Amino acid sequence: MAKKRAAPRRKHVPMRTCAVCRETRPKRELTRLVRAPDEPLQLDSTGKLAGRGAYLCDEPDCWHRAAQGKALDKALKVELGEADRAVLRARAAELETREMDA
Ligand SMILES: [Zn+2]
Repeated sequence: MAKKRAAPRRKHVPMRTCAVCRETRPKRELTRLVRAPDEPLQLDSTGKLAGRGAYLCDEPDCWHRAAQGKALDKALKVELGEADRAVLRARAAELETREMDA
């Protein structure tokens, strides 16, 4: 009789690395950012936008650091402009609000 082993509780989850803190997390805990040519930075909630993408985790700090520093510029291989950084700051504020509600 073959011994019945408990099925592993966790299925394989796709993992992604945050461009700022370099932590690897399940994909759904990160947001994909896409910088298409001639477009401002976009938050890609569907994961289907075309263009060069990078991931940021849900830590507000990572979004602040992405807005202030060069980590995301490097990951996307672009120079982020003021409009792009405003998108990052808005998302940081949104995540901070969410944390306060929790
Ligand atoms: Zn992060």
